[in-house]
Amino acid sequence: MLRNPIRVEAPWEPTESEAKAIIDSWLAKGITYFPNPYCEVCRGAGYVHPRKSDGEPDYAQIVMCGAPGCLKESKEKNQ
Ligand SMILES: [Zn+2]
Repeated sequence: MLRNPIRVEAPWEPTESEAKAIIDSWLAKGITYFPNPYCEVCRGAGYVHPRKSDGEPDYAQIVMCGAPGCLKESKEKNQ
């Protein structure tokens, strides 16, 4: 299982109206699941780097953010 994920760098932190516009643009493209723009784990990126078995971040991989209300939960609700 995923433990202590490292967030993917997300250089922007959207305002409320920016976050709404982003979600609207995804809905317009038929994307029905998306990260929480305010997620503190991935900062709205929706993906995080898992840790390897030695505890170091595995920058070669990304996995869906499993924080409450974020990408993984959103996708599971929309399947
Ligand atoms: Zn997240």
